[in-house]
Amino acid sequence: MFKIDYHIHTNYSLDSDADMEDMVLAAISKNIDEIAVTDHVDYHKQYAPPHYDDLVNKFNIIKEKYASKINMVLGVEIGLENSIADTINKFTKMYDFDFIIGSSHGVCGKDLYFDNFFENKNKKDAYTLYFTEMLKNINSINNFCVYGHIDFISRYGKYDDNTLKYSDFSDIIDDILKTLIYKGKGIEINTSGYRYHLNQTYPQYDILKRYKELGGEIITTGSDAHSPDYVADHFDIAYNMLERAGFKYISKFKNLKPTFVPITAISV
Ligand SMILES: [Zn+2]
Ligand SMILES: [Zn+2]
Repeated sequence: MFKIDYHIHTNYSLDSDADMEDMVLAAISKNIDEIAVTDHVDYHKQYAPPHYDDLVNKFNIIKEKYASKINMVLGVEIGLENSIADTINKFTKMYDFDFIIGSSHGVCGKDLYFDNFFENKNKKDAYTLYFTEMLKNINSINNFCVYGHIDFISRYGKYDDNTLKYSDFSDIIDDILKTLIYKGKGIEINTSGYRYHLNQTYPQYDILKRYKELGGEIITTGSDAHSPDYVADHFDIAYNMLERAGFKYISKFKNLKPTFVPITAISV
Protein backbone atom coordinates (compact mmCIF):
# COMPACT_ATOMS: atom_id res chain seq x y z
CA MET A 1 0.00 0.00 0.00
CA PHE A 2 1.25 3.44 -0.93
CA LYS A 3 0.95 5.76 2.05
CA ILE A 4 1.43 9.50 2.23
CA ASP A 5 1.13 11.83 5.20
CA TYR A 6 0.51 15.20 3.59
CA HIS A 7 -0.31 17.21 6.70
CA ILE A 8 2.52 17.55 9.21
CA HIS A 9 3.45 20.43 11.52
CA THR A 10 6.81 21.15 13.10
CA ASN A 11 8.11 23.78 15.50
CA TYR A 12 7.86 26.34 12.71
CA SER A 13 4.16 26.29 13.60
CA LEU A 14 3.24 28.18 16.78
CA ASP A 15 1.28 25.22 18.12
CA SER A 16 4.01 22.59 17.74
CA ASP A 17 7.40 22.09 19.36
CA ALA A 18 8.34 19.07 17.27
CA ASP A 19 11.69 19.03 15.51
CA MET A 20 11.30 18.43 11.77
CA GLU A 21 13.86 15.62 11.82
CA ASP A 22 11.93 13.76 14.55
CA MET A 23 8.74 14.00 12.49
CA VAL A 24 10.55 12.56 9.47
CA LEU A 25 12.05 9.73 11.52
CA ALA A 26 8.58 8.90 12.87
CA ALA A 27 7.21 8.75 9.30
CA ILE A 28 10.07 6.45 8.23
CA SER A 29 9.46 4.16 11.22
CA LYS A 30 5.78 3.92 10.19
CA ASN A 31 6.66 3.00 6.59
CA ILE A 32 5.20 6.14 5.06
CA ASP A 33 6.30 6.60 1.44
CA GLU A 34 6.05 10.36 1.16
CA ILE A 35 5.36 13.28 3.48
CA ALA A 36 4.57 16.96 3.09
CA VAL A 37 5.74 19.39 5.77
CA THR A 38 2.84 21.83 6.02
CA ASP A 39 3.51 24.44 8.68
CA HIS A 40 0.90 27.11 9.36
CA VAL A 41 0.53 30.48 7.73
CA ASP A 42 -2.54 32.32 9.00
CA TYR A 43 -2.82 35.92 7.94
CA HIS A 44 -6.11 36.45 9.78
CA LYS A 45 -3.99 36.01 12.91
CA GLN A 46 -1.18 38.04 11.35
CA TYR A 47 0.83 34.86 11.53
CA ALA A 48 3.42 33.79 9.02
CA PRO A 49 6.46 31.92 10.25
CA PRO A 50 8.93 34.69 11.01
CA HIS A 51 11.87 32.71 9.70
CA TYR A 52 10.38 31.06 6.68
CA ASP A 53 13.71 31.01 4.86
CA ASP A 54 15.11 29.00 7.80
CA LEU A 55 12.29 26.52 7.43
CA VAL A 56 13.04 26.03 3.74
CA ASN A 57 16.78 25.64 4.39
CA LYS A 58 16.21 23.07 7.12
CA PHE A 59 13.69 21.24 4.95
CA ASN A 60 16.21 20.94 2.12
CA ILE A 61 18.94 19.58 4.41
CA ILE A 62 16.66 16.94 5.96
CA LYS A 63 15.13 16.00 2.62
CA GLU A 64 18.61 15.32 1.27
CA LYS A 65 19.71 13.42 4.38
CA TYR A 66 16.79 10.96 4.25
CA ALA A 67 16.31 10.85 0.49
CA SER A 68 16.96 7.10 0.29
CA LYS A 69 14.32 6.38 2.93
CA ILE A 70 11.42 8.74 2.26
CA ASN A 71 10.27 11.38 -0.22
CA MET A 72 9.60 14.82 1.21
CA VAL A 73 7.75 17.70 -0.38
CA LEU A 74 7.67 21.30 0.76
CA GLY A 75 4.16 22.28 1.67
CA VAL A 76 2.25 24.84 3.68
CA GLU A 77 -1.14 24.95 5.37
CA ILE A 78 -2.48 28.40 4.73
CA GLY A 79 -5.62 29.81 6.29
CA LEU A 80 -7.93 30.92 3.48
CA GLU A 81 -9.98 34.10 3.90
CA ASN A 82 -11.48 35.67 0.79
CA SER A 83 -11.18 39.19 2.25
CA ILE A 84 -7.37 38.87 2.13
CA ALA A 85 -7.11 36.81 -1.06
CA ASP A 86 -4.35 39.03 -2.52
CA THR A 87 -2.09 38.63 0.52
CA ILE A 88 -2.59 34.87 0.49
CA ASN A 89 -1.96 34.52 -3.24
CA LYS A 90 1.19 36.61 -2.90
CA PHE A 91 2.64 34.49 -0.08
CA THR A 92 2.04 31.20 -1.86
CA LYS A 93 4.12 32.45 -4.80
CA MET A 94 7.10 33.48 -2.67
CA TYR A 95 8.40 29.92 -2.23
CA ASP A 96 8.63 26.86 -4.45
CA PHE A 97 5.89 24.91 -2.78
CA ASP A 98 5.04 21.47 -4.10
CA PHE A 99 1.83 21.28 -2.11
CA ILE A 100 -0.54 23.77 -0.48
CA ILE A 101 -3.40 22.97 1.88
CA GLY A 102 -5.98 25.74 2.05
CA SER A 103 -7.93 25.61 5.30
CA SER A 104 -10.66 27.59 7.05
CA HIS A 105 -9.22 28.51 10.44
CA GLY A 106 -10.84 31.94 10.50
CA VAL A 107 -14.20 33.09 9.15
CA CYS A 108 -14.97 36.77 8.54
CA GLY A 109 -11.82 37.76 10.42
CA LYS A 110 -12.62 35.68 13.48
CA ASP A 111 -10.45 32.76 14.49
CA LEU A 112 -12.67 29.72 15.04
CA TYR A 113 -10.70 28.59 18.07
CA PHE A 114 -9.65 31.79 19.80
CA ASP A 115 -12.40 34.29 18.95
CA ASN A 116 -16.13 34.48 19.65
CA PHE A 117 -17.27 33.33 16.22
CA PHE A 118 -20.16 31.28 17.61
CA GLU A 119 -21.56 34.00 19.89
CA ASN A 120 -25.16 34.96 19.04
CA LYS A 121 -25.36 32.33 16.29
CA ASN A 122 -27.30 29.11 16.36
CA LYS A 123 -25.61 26.03 14.98
CA LYS A 124 -27.35 26.12 11.61
CA ASP A 125 -26.40 29.78 11.01
CA ALA A 126 -22.80 29.40 12.22
CA TYR A 127 -22.10 26.29 10.17
CA THR A 128 -23.83 27.76 7.10
CA LEU A 129 -21.72 30.92 7.31
CA TYR A 130 -18.57 28.78 7.61
CA PHE A 131 -19.46 26.90 4.40
CA THR A 132 -20.63 30.02 2.53
CA GLU A 133 -17.31 31.72 3.23
CA MET A 134 -15.47 28.53 2.23
CA LEU A 135 -17.16 28.65 -1.17
CA LYS A 136 -16.13 32.29 -1.57
CA ASN A 137 -12.55 31.32 -0.63
CA ILE A 138 -12.47 28.64 -3.32
CA ASN A 139 -13.78 31.08 -5.90
CA SER A 140 -11.35 33.88 -5.03
CA ILE A 141 -8.11 32.05 -4.23
CA ASN A 142 -6.43 29.85 -6.82
CA ASN A 143 -3.11 28.87 -5.39
CA PHE A 144 -3.90 25.80 -3.31
CA CYS A 145 -4.06 22.06 -4.01
CA VAL A 146 -6.53 20.59 -1.53
CA TYR A 147 -9.01 22.07 0.92
CA GLY A 148 -8.10 21.00 4.46
CA HIS A 149 -10.45 19.31 6.93
CA ILE A 150 -13.62 20.56 5.19
CA ASP A 151 -16.10 19.97 8.02
CA PHE A 152 -13.76 21.01 10.85
CA ILE A 153 -16.34 23.55 12.11
CA SER A 154 -17.92 20.73 14.10
CA ARG A 155 -14.71 20.42 16.10
CA TYR A 156 -14.91 24.03 17.24
CA GLY A 157 -18.66 24.42 17.81
CA LYS A 158 -19.83 25.58 21.22
CA TYR A 159 -23.14 23.75 21.24
CA ASP A 160 -24.47 20.85 23.32
CA ASP A 161 -24.28 18.78 20.17
CA ASN A 162 -21.64 19.94 17.70
CA THR A 163 -22.15 17.14 15.22
CA LEU A 164 -22.62 18.09 11.60
CA LYS A 165 -24.86 16.00 9.39
CA TYR A 166 -24.12 16.12 5.68
CA SER A 167 -27.86 16.00 4.94
CA ASP A 168 -28.45 19.25 6.88
CA PHE A 169 -25.97 21.15 4.70
CA SER A 170 -26.02 19.10 1.51
CA ASP A 171 -26.75 22.01 -0.88
CA ILE A 172 -23.83 24.17 0.18
CA ILE A 173 -21.48 21.22 0.67
CA ASP A 174 -22.33 19.95 -2.83
CA ASP A 175 -21.63 23.43 -4.23
CA ILE A 176 -18.24 23.39 -2.49
CA LEU A 177 -17.33 19.92 -3.75
CA LYS A 178 -18.46 20.68 -7.31
CA THR A 179 -16.51 23.93 -7.38
CA LEU A 180 -13.37 22.23 -6.10
CA ILE A 181 -13.70 19.52 -8.75
CA TYR A 182 -14.35 22.10 -11.49
CA LYS A 183 -11.26 24.07 -10.47
CA GLY A 184 -9.06 20.95 -10.35
CA LYS A 185 -8.66 21.10 -6.57
CA GLY A 186 -8.89 18.21 -4.17
CA ILE A 187 -9.68 17.51 -0.56
CA GLU A 188 -7.77 15.82 2.21
CA ILE A 189 -8.89 13.15 4.61
CA ASN A 190 -7.62 14.36 7.98
CA THR A 191 -7.34 11.91 10.89
CA SER A 192 -6.73 14.41 13.71
CA GLY A 193 -10.22 13.89 15.12
CA TYR A 194 -8.99 10.72 16.78
CA ARG A 195 -6.33 12.70 18.63
CA TYR A 196 -9.05 14.96 20.03
CA HIS A 197 -11.16 11.90 20.98
CA LEU A 198 -13.83 12.95 18.48
CA ASN A 199 -13.50 9.61 16.71
CA GLN A 200 -14.00 10.83 13.19
CA THR A 201 -12.06 11.88 10.14
CA TYR A 202 -12.47 15.29 8.50
CA PRO A 203 -14.36 15.08 6.30
CA GLN A 204 -16.66 12.42 7.67
CA TYR A 205 -17.46 9.43 5.46
CA ASP A 206 -20.71 10.84 3.95
CA ILE A 207 -18.90 13.87 2.54
CA LEU A 208 -15.98 11.79 1.30
CA LYS A 209 -18.40 9.50 -0.50
CA ARG A 210 -20.31 12.43 -1.98
CA TYR A 211 -17.05 13.93 -3.30
CA LYS A 212 -16.37 10.66 -5.09
CA GLU A 213 -19.93 10.44 -6.44
CA LEU A 214 -19.63 13.94 -7.89
CA GLY A 215 -16.46 12.93 -9.72
CA GLY A 216 -13.79 13.99 -7.22
CA GLU A 217 -10.50 12.15 -7.67
CA ILE A 218 -7.84 14.31 -6.04
CA ILE A 219 -7.37 13.21 -2.47
CA THR A 220 -4.55 13.22 0.06
CA THR A 221 -4.28 11.71 3.53
CA GLY A 222 -3.02 13.79 6.45
CA SER A 223 -2.57 13.21 10.17
CA ASP A 224 -2.23 16.90 11.04
CA ALA A 225 0.37 15.66 13.54
CA HIS A 226 2.01 18.27 15.73
CA SER A 227 4.26 15.69 17.44
CA PRO A 228 6.01 12.50 16.24
CA ASP A 229 3.62 10.13 18.03
CA TYR A 230 0.75 11.20 15.81
CA VAL A 231 2.39 10.99 12.40
CA ALA A 232 0.15 8.78 10.22
CA ASP A 233 -2.16 8.29 13.19
CA HIS A 234 -5.25 6.16 12.45
CA PHE A 235 -4.32 5.81 8.79
CA ASP A 236 -5.76 2.28 8.78
CA ILE A 237 -9.20 3.85 9.20
CA ALA A 238 -8.56 6.55 6.57
CA TYR A 239 -7.37 4.08 3.94
CA ASN A 240 -10.25 1.76 4.73
CA MET A 241 -12.72 4.63 4.21
CA LEU A 242 -11.06 5.57 0.92
CA GLU A 243 -11.50 2.04 -0.36
CA ARG A 244 -15.10 1.88 0.85
CA ALA A 245 -15.88 5.16 -0.92
CA GLY A 246 -14.41 3.73 -4.13
CA PHE A 247 -11.09 5.56 -4.40
CA LYS A 248 -8.39 3.59 -6.21
CA TYR A 249 -5.75 6.34 -6.28
CA ILE A 250 -4.08 8.68 -3.86
CA SER A 251 -2.59 11.97 -5.05
CA LYS A 252 0.91 13.20 -4.49
CA PHE A 253 2.09 16.60 -5.64
CA LYS A 254 5.04 18.25 -7.32
CA ASN A 255 5.02 21.94 -8.28
CA LEU A 256 1.38 22.03 -7.11
CA LYS A 257 0.39 19.42 -9.72
CA PRO A 258 -1.09 16.06 -8.70
CA THR A 259 0.00 12.66 -9.89
CA PHE A 260 -2.13 9.65 -9.10
CA VAL A 261 -0.65 6.59 -7.44
CA PRO A 262 -2.69 3.39 -6.99
CA ILE A 263 -3.43 3.05 -3.29
CA THR A 264 -2.45 -0.59 -3.58
CA ALA A 265 0.96 0.19 -5.10
CA ILE A 266 3.85 -1.54 -3.43
CA SER A 267 6.10 0.90 -1.63
CA VAL A 268 9.39 1.62 -3.32
ZN1 LIG B 1 -5.87 23.14 9.97
ZN1 LIG C 1 -2.89 21.49 10.36
